[in-house]
Amino acid sequence: PLVLGIETSCDETGVGIVRGHTLLANTIASSVEEHARFGGVVPEVASRAHLEAMTPTVERALEQAGLRLSDIDAIAVTAGPGLAGALLVGVAAAKAYALGLGVPLYGVNHLAAHVAVDQLEHGALPKPCIAMLVSGGHSSLLLVPDVAREVVSLGSTVDDAAGEAFDKVARVLGLPFPGGPHIDRVAREGSGSAVAFPRGKLDDGTLDFSFSGLKTAVARWVEAKERAGESVHVPDVAASFQEAVVDVLTRKALQACKRYGVQDLLIGGGVAANSRLRALAQERCDAAGVRLRVPRPGLCTDNGAMVAALGSDLVAAGVTPSLLDIPADSSMPITTVHV
Ligand code: ATP
Ligand code: MG
Ligand code: FE
Repeated sequence: PLVLGIETSCDETGVGIVRGHTLLANTIASSVEEHARFGGVVPEVASRAHLEAMTPTVERALEQAGLRLSDIDAIAVTAGPGLAGALLVGVAAAKAYALGLGVPLYGVNHLAAHVAVDQLEHGALPKPCIAMLVSGGHSSLLLVPDVAREVVSLGSTVDDAAGEAFDKVARVLGLPFPGGPHIDRVAREGSGSAVAFPRGKLDDGTLDFSFSGLKTAVARWVEAKERAGESVHVPDVAASFQEAVVDVLTRKALQACKRYGVQDLLIGGGVAANSRLRALAQERCDAAGVRLRVPRPGLCTDNGAMVAALGSDLVAAGVTPSLLDIPADSSMPITTVHV
């Protein structure tokens, strides 16, 4: 079956079309530039942008796939978590398409979709696998027996998400929003061992994370330098901060694999696009005999294909479709794969 996925949880209007695990189209309209001057996503601006972008983005996706709307067999849409108003735009559009076409509608969890998307690149997920979800709003370690049916949370951040830490540190360093990709880029010119920043909760025996102490440590370090009239070498600070984050992430991910006797690790979410995280994870997985899967960077950040991918799994698993009036849930827990 052909599944069309709609994503509007934050500032990306994403539409994807898949058949099974084959990606046929993936189109995105982003309002990120409208938010940049505010240093963060403005919910009202995002909702309005989704409204304007929805129809053209669906049309571009159909064109990319060489299909007509009437070819679509099922609609999947992000039902949460995310910005309430933004989610509602996607849910209303998805309902209209499903009603108009007379096809089933699936309301899915955005975070589970960040996990499911990897299948479009690397095929069906091993059951079970360990998934590390690192994004702008979440950082979690998950045991995934079956992404269409069951996701178990093993640990998560007790304060800031990894992507949030990247964005806040970027701001301290005078880099544009969203800061993750900028830190990734400038860090290549710096040394990850220039400054020894703290690694929160590294050996505390849990699978939880903490990044707010690190963020504060970077801000204090930069302030102290400025107060002393010394110059701050941005690439070194960026690289050292990034190293602290990816060191903790990769170590905890491998601890999770070991603890649960699982040999397959998946990394997903926007921060999985980070080049240093990808490299260090590969190095450490190789050393531990763990197989690593990370989607290409364009599938790590928010997109519609990830929603279509999870929808496709739900269809294949014979899951009952959602009610047409899908409740958008801004704080949907990771354990709720679909509604
Ligand atoms: P969530 O998925 O938790 O609802 P979100 O949808 O806003 O949050 P994503 O789009 O999945 O988050 O990820 C965006 C985050 O990823 C931002 O914080 C951004 O800075 C970060 N990010 C993107 N690319 C990189 C990169 N190369 N290095 C580090 N961080 C990155
Ligand atoms: Mg975004
Ligand atoms: Fe996301």
